[in-house]
Amino acid sequence: MEIKAEKCRVVMLVYPLQGHINPMLQLANILYSKGISIIIAYPSDFNPLNPSNHPEFTYLPLKAADVCGLEITNVVDGVGGIIGFTAVLNKIYKEPFEKSVQELMENDNENEGKRGKIRCIIYDVFMYFAQSVADQFKIPGISLRTSCAATILGITATHNPGCNLPVHVPIECLLQVPELQALELDNIAKHLKKTIPKLSYEIKAEITTAFNKSTAIIVNTVGFLEWAAINKAQEYFKASIYPIGPFHKYAENPTNSNSVLKEDTGCIAWLNQHPPRSVLYVSFGSLASMSEKDLLETALGLAQSNQPFLWVVRPRMILGGRDWAEILPSDVIEKINEMGLVVGWAPQRQVLGHSSIGGFWTHCGWNSTIEGICEGLPMICRPFFGDQFWNVKYISKVWKIGMELEGEIERENVERIVREVMVGEEGGEMRKRALELKDEVELCYKEGGTTYTYINQLVDLITSF
Ligand code: UDP
Repeated sequence: MEIKAEKCRVVMLVYPLQGHINPMLQLANILYSKGISIIIAYPSDFNPLNPSNHPEFTYLPLKAADVCGLEITNVVDGVGGIIGFTAVLNKIYKEPFEKSVQELMENDNENEGKRGKIRCIIYDVFMYFAQSVADQFKIPGISLRTSCAATILGITATHNPGCNLPVHVPIECLLQVPELQALELDNIAKHLKKTIPKLSYEIKAEITTAFNKSTAIIVNTVGFLEWAAINKAQEYFKASIYPIGPFHKYAENPTNSNSVLKEDTGCIAWLNQHPPRSVLYVSFGSLASMSEKDLLETALGLAQSNQPFLWVVRPRMILGGRDWAEILPSDVIEKINEMGLVVGWAPQRQVLGHSSIGGFWTHCGWNSTIEGICEGLPMICRPFFGDQFWNVKYISKVWKIGMELEGEIERENVERIVREVMVGEEGGEMRKRALELKDEVELCYKEGGTTYTYINQLVDLITSF
């Protein structure tokens, strides 16, 4: 007898940072649109979710007995902070999660499966402990990688054949793949080796173990953007990889927000006053921070470029803790107000899809990258940490839809690159390619496309458990 999707429930475990919350909830939307019931488990001590944003899901808030002195505001600018945060989360939420899953399964038994039994646990791979919980309850675990597929290789690749990663991709094997050469994996590996503390190797091992034990691996990417990386990663893991991105385009309403910070929706009225493709959107995501000097040079460069801009400067984004308006001299603020608008947090997907937006200055977070591609926007790239150093290579060297702002941030360089991307010849070429890429991506999530097909296969898999 065929099992109906409506009788099927899954538990989805969120990693509580914005760039991970968004794709997990978007994936939940996709599965829900296929008739699967969704139970969202989330750490309630850090960036707790607001259930009223998605009342169609059931929620399992997890409370840690002791948060080990961890504060969300300390997880800024980078890998160091994120690694420590990840290690602690995996320690303090294992027990509450185990307990919650156990209760759910007991309730299932009492109800004789009337609500539909729990088929699997889908977890952000940064919450790697969830795989061991799935193993313990003998249900399948499915890992989600919220960044590009190439980072699966990045996490598992190493220069050290004697290391104790359960799956070890020698970096030389990656360098032999022509399509991956543009990512300069070797340089990135060396860079990471120098800058990442020892703890990260333990986390690499944990994440690799989770991928290795997963029944399936979901990635928010699009097949044709990354076949080389996807196929290479598939050689090393027995679980099938499902490239079913861009998640946000498949089943989500663009005005539906999962934002931790309050969105300043007033910027849409400001954008409405501008001609098509005239405004540069500038955003460095939810974690990256910059020095007061870089803020000043960025502000001056933007003002001198004479292009309208919408700039997200988050509260506490500037190192030292002062607000941008306290730091910048009044004549610079005046210049900024003439050409641009600064907001604390924007409804980014709505902004990127607005007809007045003509370019995107991004920190190259993966969600921003994929959101920018979906709107056909040429990009200015300024990566800060982690996977952003991979994504920038994809954008500038592989897909050739953006250019990197390299070296120190100086007003003249900022002015030059902004003009080039918004009104220059090279910018025009990049825009053309970006629009072509957008069209190609669209084909993938429409009927018959790769994303469309993989989503159906994934749903078949989940309902078969
Ligand atoms: N975002 C937003 N408003 C902003 C800035 C960012 O809604 O003002 C969203 C953006 O659409 C993306 C996420 O926050 O979905 C950031 O994720 P990304 O992977 O780009 O970067 P991270 O914050 O993880 O560095």
